[in-house]
Amino acid sequence: MIAEVIVDLSSESIDKIFDYESIEGLQRGQLVLVPFGNKQIEGFVVNLKAHTDIPQGKLKAVGSILRNEPVIKEEMFALAEFMKQEYHLRMVDILRLFLPAEMRGGRVREKIKNFVILNDEYKDVEKVVDIRKNAHQQHNLLCYMRANPIADYTKVCDTFSRGAVVALEQKGVLKLCEQVVDRRPKIYETEKKNVTLTVEQQHTLDAILNKQNGKFLIHGVTGSGKTEIYMRIIEDCVARGKTAIMLVPEISLTGQVLSNFTNRFGDNVAILHSGLSSGERYDEWQRIFSKKANIVVGVRSAIFAPVENIGAIIIDEEHDNSYVSESNPRYNTHEVAEFRANYNNCNFILGSATPSIDTFYRTEKGELTLLTMKNRANNKALPKIHIVDMCAELSRGNSSFFSFKFQDELKKCIDDGNQAIVFINRRGYSSFMRCVDCGYVAKCTDCDVSLVLHKEDNQLKCHFCGKRFKVLTRCPMCGSEKIKQGAIGTQRVVEELHKAFPSVPIFRMDNDTTKTKNSHMEILKKFAECKPAILVGTQMVAKGHDFGDVSFVGIIDADLSLHFSDFRSNERTFQLITQVAGRCGRAQKEGTVVLQTFSPKHFVYKKAIENNYDAFYSNEINLRKTTNFPPFSKIVRLLFVGGDELRVKEYLAKIYFKLKDILKPYGSDIYFVEAMNSPVKRIQGKFRYQILMRYKDELHEELIQKIYRLVDENKDARVSLFVEINQQNLS
Ligand code: ADP
Ligand code: ZN
Ligand code: ZN
Repeated sequence: MIAEVIVDLSSESIDKIFDYESIEGLQRGQLVLVPFGNKQIEGFVVNLKAHTDIPQGKLKAVGSILRNEPVIKEEMFALAEFMKQEYHLRMVDILRLFLPAEMRGGRVREKIKNFVILNDEYKDVEKVVDIRKNAHQQHNLLCYMRANPIADYTKVCDTFSRGAVVALEQKGVLKLCEQVVDRRPKIYETEKKNVTLTVEQQHTLDAILNKQNGKFLIHGVTGSGKTEIYMRIIEDCVARGKTAIMLVPEISLTGQVLSNFTNRFGDNVAILHSGLSSGERYDEWQRIFSKKANIVVGVRSAIFAPVENIGAIIIDEEHDNSYVSESNPRYNTHEVAEFRANYNNCNFILGSATPSIDTFYRTEKGELTLLTMKNRANNKALPKIHIVDMCAELSRGNSSFFSFKFQDELKKCIDDGNQAIVFINRRGYSSFMRCVDCGYVAKCTDCDVSLVLHKEDNQLKCHFCGKRFKVLTRCPMCGSEKIKQGAIGTQRVVEELHKAFPSVPIFRMDNDTTKTKNSHMEILKKFAECKPAILVGTQMVAKGHDFGDVSFVGIIDADLSLHFSDFRSNERTFQLITQVAGRCGRAQKEGTVVLQTFSPKHFVYKKAIENNYDAFYSNEINLRKTTNFPPFSKIVRLLFVGGDELRVKEYLAKIYFKLKDILKPYGSDIYFVEAMNSPVKRIQGKFRYQILMRYKDELHEELIQKIYRLVDENKDARVSLFVEINQQNLS
């Protein structure tokens, strides 16, 4: 037999399958070592066949099998084919998603610990052991082992001496053995709750359980108790001997969700997120693979978990943009999840208080069943949102960052000993530094973006490449010392709040404070324990946290996302406001939200304060329809990236020319196609150009394959070309 192998090499620019002579017992999906050049490297066996075109003498044989059981199962091969077709990915990149780095290359191993075990016949206290009278350690150890028949070797040696262990082992009383121990991620305990479902919850759950292969959108207001429904769905899966996958956005995975799940399902849950250590990820994956854990809770990439016989796939906060992979390998988690749900013929459940426009449109088309929950599980009202017109505020003589209403409500919240959340969607201290006299703005030398002031380390930082620069004190162009700071960020807000409330603990949560492992969790945990307290943060604070004592939410600058030049800006702003507002008034305490804006009459704000998703949706979907934006069209970007600008432009022109030919027959179904600079012209010293196109949604399947073919047939060795479909963030 001949084995077709994809070698695990990233330098390989072509996606090639190599033939090797098979060895005894080899199966498709196994991980193997194969000779490649003068080395042995890892590879995936993707097929076994009878014949090869390679002449006899030249054919090399597979070196060895790395794991007995195939690591890539049939379902995953089918998924790989689907992803290759849809996203034009290299097979090796797809297989690597299925088998994380820790599982390959032998970099991470099982953790093995030594144990001491008391032999059975010595469990009987009557059994005489020949120990010298003054060998106290041996007597004590025997006594201890009779109470604890299995003990940690190192611990026992430390307590009783290694000599005693050896002596009893030689007498046949004890034996030593090795055992694999699981490294489990850290979980914070929360109280266990036993709840009776509300009528709405019961209704939603019944609809799902009555149809075991349905597709649903649970549209439930913040605090409507969606998590409880997910857990009941999963309980049902477990009872039927099936597995389940639940996806959550990275940040909301940190707090209560995890402990809720482990409280209920114990070791049957495996957790996969980016904060795990390599060892933890390895062990969690092993526990799933070996079927010790049947429930997977994790972020985007957990959709590739090696579970079989799936009973339900749940995507919580389905609108969250972390579900779209924005860098290579690019894929859409919803689509991958739906593929697996179809394959397993199981329930597919999306949940959100603010469903994406695309998803909600699918309920209108009948592709998803809509299940609505309009009330909070505890019957508390949704918080009241007050809009403050910041123009009017200025004319009233208030030029501070905080409106009078904001100040009053925050003070009341603090005086009552409650907690407050302040949202500002910009990290750092201020957004840019500009010379007042000549208009010079400090920019990154490698990227075409302005630098952000970070006061804590007194540096300017590039948010694209992370490069650091000295703070401007004098303009390098005209020498002026009049330097102005741009719009405020989280650091500045913390500084200002600290001046106003010097004795109140203030926590900051943004990309800068959450770089290290578990840091989200630590911040949220500390915040949860302090009253009064203020949590200042970027959109991270909006995501799914359930704090009982938050009675005030302040939104400092909502317009920031509204005036972003992107067709999704209305949608994102509505989601952000509803989600941040939804963090307060969740338990006994009433919640108040203050939203500061320079466009108080905007329909997005109006619908958000009325808490009227349906009205927002119908307004927005009409807008999309008349302007031919998604879901009625697909936006495809071809992104060209390279170090030699001229070469990038030449390549761009060549592709653009050919592309026009391909698109021509489609006439007015192509709404837009143009070649241009990318919004950020340079990142990390590389030039970026793009062809942006928008075409009728129904054309997608056909057109995208033509585009992929065009790209494949016209490669350039020095310019990278990426194809992006409905990308969230076009930088
Ligand atoms: P959502 O995800 O819909 O925003 P959560 O699942 O976080 O809402 O639930 C909000 C709060 O309501 C949680 O503290 C949860 O424990 C509580 N809860 C859920 N279901 C019930 C119920 N049936 N009765 C009482 N409290 C509930
Ligand atoms: Zn200047
Ligand atoms: Zn940079």
